[in-house]
Amino acid sequence: MKDENFLKERNARSIWHPMAHPADSQKNLPEIIVAGDGVTITDVDGHKAVDGVGGLWNVNLGFSCQPVKDAIAAQLDRLPYYSIFRGTTNDAVIELGEMLAEFFAPDGLERAFYTSGGSDSVEIALRLARQYHKVRGEAGRVKYLSLKKGYHGTHTLGASVNGNANFRTQYEPLMPGCYHIPAPYTYRNPFNETDPEKLAQLCLAALEDEIKFQGAETIAAMIMEPILGAGGVIVPHESFMPGVRAICDKYGILLIADEVITAFGRTGAWSGSRLWGVQPDMMTTAKAITNGYFPFGAVMISGRVAEVFESDTSGKAAIGSGYTYSGHPVGAAAAIACLKETQALNVKDNAAARGTQLHEGLLALQEKHDIVGDVRGGRGLMCALELVSDRATKAPIDKASIAKVHRGAYETGAMVRVSGNNVILSPSLIVTEGNIATILNALDAGL
Ligand code: PLP
Repeated sequence: MKDENFLKERNARSIWHPMAHPADSQKNLPEIIVAGDGVTITDVDGHKAVDGVGGLWNVNLGFSCQPVKDAIAAQLDRLPYYSIFRGTTNDAVIELGEMLAEFFAPDGLERAFYTSGGSDSVEIALRLARQYHKVRGEAGRVKYLSLKKGYHGTHTLGASVNGNANFRTQYEPLMPGCYHIPAPYTYRNPFNETDPEKLAQLCLAALEDEIKFQGAETIAAMIMEPILGAGGVIVPHESFMPGVRAICDKYGILLIADEVITAFGRTGAWSGSRLWGVQPDMMTTAKAITNGYFPFGAVMISGRVAEVFESDTSGKAAIGSGYTYSGHPVGAAAAIACLKETQALNVKDNAAARGTQLHEGLLALQEKHDIVGDVRGGRGLMCALELVSDRATKAPIDKASIAKVHRGAYETGAMVRVSGNNVILSPSLIVTEGNIATILNALDAGL
């Protein structure tokens, strides 16, 4: 048995947790996870739970993916690190670059720029967007558009395009020139529109209106998640992302798909962009690219954007961005093994089937529990429950009550994630029908 008070004191004295109030962990000891096996985690007390969160939307292949572990070990042995700044490269990044270009060819993406995670990927994509316009002689295109409720990581550019005040206000003033468009969030929106298709059209009209107001010639890029993840799994109508693409094309604005969560099968398609039949100009990836086993990411760049950089003779296209760990050979080796396994297991199909089971199960829980105001999902293994204290007023449930839901589910056998008044579910893509039943049963108990 863990000595709760002793560990609480050690944890609070030594660690600040991301996305948490430092004082919270002095009051409550977070679960201490000591092992992961398949899709199950074990805590320090020996209690086991099916991981309904999939790490942090990243452990798509579960905790026992031996080929990825072996690839990491072998690469550590052979070449544990070397930089790929100008002048050197390594065989792992070359092989991975070719594999990614092939994997994302249907998305029109041809080049990879490596990063060490999702926030890095967002930062790089937003920088490249401005640079693209400068290289083309449109230096005035410096502004960014994004969706309210969107999440784009925590670097300053990413926080500036972020659409959730919780991740912004502490750090303001952020970058000027970032403008936010209403998200196609049927449960709450300024238009009071509940029909997904009509709402998509209203949001698209708001996007075009903002472009005209700002002046298209001042805007570099629109960044959006194909399905909004951290904002509470907001699944837009199928017309929405194609509509955004068409508007961006009309006004010469680059479209960046932030697929840190949605790439590699989570939505039931190999990318969120492909789910909606859209080819972005750039795509950010990270998380599941290494199954969460190594911090790594890549920005994928379309042929059209690459051509502008590669044909430049002025010197303006020289990339002044990159990280010590861009193209880390161990991360690249992990990603190669992960991509092979992802395709061999065809995890997107399981994500689609189990995602439907999960979504239907959550809808049944909504019938049973009044505190479930809204259920979102239905496209692969990303779902959310929005909890309210009163269905009529949609008043969000209080923090203590949602913490009880979390605890009840955990004690009954499933880890779920709480974000604001949402319970978010994003299990590994290898979950079985039985695993989903366990998650639903545990959530039922928590509710
Ligand atoms: N973009 C999206 C869509 C994300 O969901 C996240 C993280 O959840 C990020 C960017 C930031 O990624 P990271 O936490 O790896 O920096």
